[in-house]
Amino acid sequence: MKKHNFYAGPSILPQYTIKKTAEAVLDFAGTGLSLLEISHRSKEFQAVMDEAQALFKELLEIPAGYEVVFLGGGASLQFCMVPFNLLNKKAAYLNTGTWANKAEAEAKAFGEVVCVGSSKADNYTYIPKGFEANVPADAEYLHITTNNTIFGTELKKDPDVKVPLVADMSSDIFSRPVDVSKYDLIYGGAQKNLAPAGLTFVVVKTDALGRVERHIPTMLDYRTHIKAGSMFNTPPCVAVYGALETLRWLKEQGGVPAMQKKNIRKAEKLYNEIDRNKLFKGTVTCMEDRSLMNICFVMNDEYKELEEEFLKYATSQGMVGIKGHRSVGGFRASTYNALPEESVDALIEVMKTFERNH
Ligand SMILES: *Cc1c(COP(=O)(O)O)cnc(C)c1O
Repeated sequence: MKKHNFYAGPSILPQYTIKKTAEAVLDFAGTGLSLLEISHRSKEFQAVMDEAQALFKELLEIPAGYEVVFLGGGASLQFCMVPFNLLNKKAAYLNTGTWANKAEAEAKAFGEVVCVGSSKADNYTYIPKGFEANVPADAEYLHITTNNTIFGTELKKDPDVKVPLVADMSSDIFSRPVDVSKYDLIYGGAQKNLAPAGLTFVVVKTDALGRVERHIPTMLDYRTHIKAGSMFNTPPCVAVYGALETLRWLKEQGGVPAMQKKNIRKAEKLYNEIDRNKLFKGTVTCMEDRSLMNICFVMNDEYKELEEEFLKYATSQGMVGIKGHRSVGGFRASTYNALPEESVDALIEVMKTFERNH
């Protein structure tokens, strides 16, 4: 039976990426060697790194004055690396979920942190409104998490504030156009919407660096990695290769605007079914905050006892990874760039059939 991959992360990648990476594992760039065993200093791998960085800049329309670096350590390492490099005295943080909360907690070790809004008391079921007005004029940056993977909320527009933005875009990078010029830094784990696990991407404005007074350990200093072209130490070669193939695929598909169109269509379909179907309801309370990438829903109150049964039925029909995160419960369908529309259609069919049978 065909499987429909709704995992939240690591998650679905284009078949193109998987096929090309598998080929390179057997014979990388005609070298007769495997991608798993070649030196990152070889000219063939250098070409992979160069093209991946160039395509990243092209597809996200990154203006001059920014660098793209590929690192290890995950988005979680960025929670401390960002303030290490950018926070002298004061920064503002918006608390919209588990990851945002973790980022904010880490920053407190480096300076004053002003929380400009939080929906924690309501289990992060919406994005706080009017937070822009709470950003202190002397904050060095405002940190946001554009898509809250666990709770299914998303800031779909770059906020208008007077200070530079820093964003965790782990789970919605390349899903919609971004005005990069508003940001000092964008980071994320690549395993949600770009590449196999092991790779972290950072887009950083070079002017924003070198302004803090503290000593920064070499490996945690963005300038180290910029200067070395993301090859200061051994990069996660296979994941960088996977990212390159996904970026090539993205370009072929029409780039970020084409992805956004498709993502809106997929998400609208599924939200419409959640709202229509008497068995289910969405968990996000503010409709405009509903994520296009992670769609969270639960059984309606009077059908709560059917949760396990639905999960079993959906699984038997080829749905994979739709169990919700333990802090929300219910179900979560992740609809990243690589998820075909037919998978959304298949899930909707399963929901309809289950409704008819109950
Ligand atoms: C998954 C995720 C993280 C954590 O990423 P790691 O690479 O595992 O550290 C952080 N932020 C967001 C928004 C995520 O979705």
